[in-house]
Amino acid sequence: MIPEMGHRILLVEDDDGIALPLIRTFERESYEVRRVAEGLPGIALVEQEPFDLIVLDLGLPDIEGLEVCRRVREAGYNGGILILTARGGEIDRVVGLDVGADDYMAKPFGLAELLARARALLRRTASSVSHTASGPVPVPVPVPAVAAPALRVDRQSRRAFSNDAELPLTAKEFDVLSLLEQDRGAVVTRERLMDEVWDQNWFGSTKTLDVTIGRLRQKLDDSGGTVQVVTVRGVGFRLEDGAEDA
Ligand code: CA
Repeated sequence: MIPEMGHRILLVEDDDGIALPLIRTFERESYEVRRVAEGLPGIALVEQEPFDLIVLDLGLPDIEGLEVCRRVREAGYNGGILILTARGGEIDRVVGLDVGADDYMAKPFGLAELLARARALLRRTASSVSHTASGPVPVPVPVPAVAAPALRVDRQSRRAFSNDAELPLTAKEFDVLSLLEQDRGAVVTRERLMDEVWDQNWFGSTKTLDVTIGRLRQKLDDSGGTVQVVTVRGVGFRLEDGAEDA
């Protein structure tokens, strides 16, 4: 399929029995796959080459997959990260940590399901990643009425701007912000965020929502903007512009 051509995937997985069928599956979809068996070479590659998606094993011979995840995000990687985890017990740990992953799959998994998750992440991240790598920058969609919006969300290109500076959001962070922005000022429930941003395959922990909200707040703060994500205890979250009269 033409829209999926050219996507670049980095597979960080030491087990050939898992890596080789995955590489074949991705290549059949015309994705370009690079594979490394250890974490440090994976981090180095991400710093050298653009990737749209990283599929990351947790149990690696050199450093932990979680550490790989944390470090590539710190280095500014904004594409998707799909974590592969061997044991159920690892999942809670992953979800509880602010490592910047977008999705998780427990081994053993079906190739078809993994491919579906990878496709979904690629769709969500494709525009923001390709725009930074190459290609024309889209003309921002004009926002009527407000002169200089403190926050602007462009759903077509999946980019968000605070005071006209682009926010470096991951796919999930963008989805959460986009939902909150759609109903600005109103409460968006935790259930709705979980349903719409994480699909029914998600294994139910809402800790990941809090982690994502936390990162989103940090990025909004870092941008120097006035828009805030306000917690409505026991219900959900609301987007407010602190500069406006509430
Ligand atoms: Ca492993």
